[in-house]
Amino acid sequence: METYEKRVLIIQAHPDDTESWCAGALALLRSKGYAISIATMTDGSLGGFGMTREETRNCRYEEARKAAAELDADFTMIGGQDGFLFDTQEMRIRTIELIRRVRPGIVLGHTPFDYHSDHRTAGEITEIACLLSTLPNVPCEEPPLEKTPLFYRTAPLTFSDVLGYPLPEPHFYLDITSVIEKKMAMLSHHKSQIEVMRVMHGIEDFFAFSKEYNREIGLKAGVTYGEYYWQHRGGGFQTYPLIQKELKKWIIEKEI
Ligand SMILES: [Zn+2]
Repeated sequence: METYEKRVLIIQAHPDDTESWCAGALALLRSKGYAISIATMTDGSLGGFGMTREETRNCRYEEARKAAAELDADFTMIGGQDGFLFDTQEMRIRTIELIRRVRPGIVLGHTPFDYHSDHRTAGEITEIACLLSTLPNVPCEEPPLEKTPLFYRTAPLTFSDVLGYPLPEPHFYLDITSVIEKKMAMLSHHKSQIEVMRVMHGIEDFFAFSKEYNREIGLKAGVTYGEYYWQHRGGGFQTYPLIQKELKKWIIEKEI
């Protein structure tokens, strides 16, 4: 088995994205001795009702921090604006700084297929930040990594891409049945999102919707509750299947 740092950094666009889509994998990796760091590209400040942007940001920071604490994870906001996330030099450098500070063996980020522009942009920034994390000439305070982290892509909100077409088959499904209650405990801290999901997406019960989503994935994978992932295997990235090996017991792998 190739060796990588036993640290996972997940970078998503908004507070609650991590808990919605990949808390199961994080809980299982935590049980295997991995340290978890959770970060968001934006401050989530548009995701609130009856609160100013600043109040919303503070509320969501607290919610995400409590959710992260369920896995003894730390939580960082990288500093982008909710709804106005752009792939800028500043955001790339901040993200590279974070990756170099955490020094993860594994990074998780959004897919390019996602419905939300902030998610797609966050995925883009994370991808290039991983690739540049080893290069000494990047104008960065933190020293470069010795190895490019392995990069995995998390699932989008629905089973379709941004235009509504079916998604490509994931590289693997993960049986999260044994940690579904941990996932729900993490998600339950994001109470501010119940109203946002009702108004924005017409989802009456955000937490029940999320659990049902994992049940539907489980049906596809032949387990009770599931998540699914792609490993970023594009040029320039190392493709050692570390999560697949570490979580072998819970993996339902698809060949493509
Ligand atoms: Zn989001």
